[in-house]
Amino acid sequence: MSRQTNDPLRPGTLREFTGQPVLTGRLRVLLTAARSRGGMLDHVLLAGPPGLGKTTLAHVIAHELDVPLVPALGPGLETMAHAVTLLTGVTGPAVVFIDEIHRMGRAAEETLYAAMEDGRVAITVGDGPAAEIVRLDLPPMTVVGATTQMGLLSAPLRDRFGFAGHLAPYDEAALAGIAAANARRLGFDLTDQGALTLARRSRGTPRVLNQRLRLVRDVLHVEGRPAADDALVRDALDRFGIDELGLDDLGRGLLHALCVQFGGGPVGGAAWAASVNETERTLEAHEPYLMRAGLTQRTARGRVATPKAFGHLGLPAPAT
Ligand code: ATP
Repeated sequence: MSRQTNDPLRPGTLREFTGQPVLTGRLRVLLTAARSRGGMLDHVLLAGPPGLGKTTLAHVIAHELDVPLVPALGPGLETMAHAVTLLTGVTGPAVVFIDEIHRMGRAAEETLYAAMEDGRVAITVGDGPAAEIVRLDLPPMTVVGATTQMGLLSAPLRDRFGFAGHLAPYDEAALAGIAAANARRLGFDLTDQGALTLARRSRGTPRVLNQRLRLVRDVLHVEGRPAADDALVRDALDRFGIDELGLDDLGRGLLHALCVQFGGGPVGGAAWAASVNETERTLEAHEPYLMRAGLTQRTARGRVATPKAFGHLGLPAPAT
């Protein structure tokens, strides 16, 4: 069980959590009500793309309720025994955090339903005709499920959650705020303009922002400069191949292949990924942002590059 997280850049309280104002506003109401009752929160489902703070919010919920967080991974929960082991390992009030919950096995899911609804788990003791079903009462718990693919969650599982929240990509102001706070935590000076430039090149995603913030810190140290101003941030990101739109080498490689090798498309996902020696899983990490930035589109016939994509790469747009 862990109450703390090892990530020094992970906000610990709801107050420290920047961005997602609608979601955090709703969670604040639920947490305040639960605390005033002296009880736990109803089960919470958090959905959204990777790196936006689902795990962070699960830790925040545990912290705000002053209970430990028990972490689990959906793909590791296949059988009834897996779920029973997880649930019976909880020894007191806790937040049980299941990441990638859409990847749980059906048998484990069914065990979880009873735990979420009745606070009990059924265990079969013994074998054959003498087998007996024993029901164990569980301590009060809030299940927090996280998923990047809400559509893959079974309807019965979805229905067990009292509250579902969606995380959306962060705006520049929120990301710049996170950059400023985290630069302080990492012990270096980042100017307001530097923070904004970093925010603009971080694809709306705090995890990406934090990775890039560390690159900026390293360049700052190597250069022996006192503060990361706009020029230093630009220099650091340029050196690591991160462009004005926040694309890295791989993102640009994908875009280049789509524009040049496939003449702007349409092309299927597998062929597109293979053209840069990657799999469709890699596409899952890059394509949502390429689409959001207006660089690519999905059509019935496959992926296509937009005129903005050609412009971004400095290529002439194909004649239509
Ligand atoms: P995945 O779906 O890949 O598990 P996730 O949505 O659970 O991703 P987190 O692991 O919670 O994302 O967040 C990624 C990183 O971004 C964390 O290290 C955390 O430091 C940072 N982070 C996320 N949200 C925020 C926020 N609102 N404020 C500050 N930092 C944040």
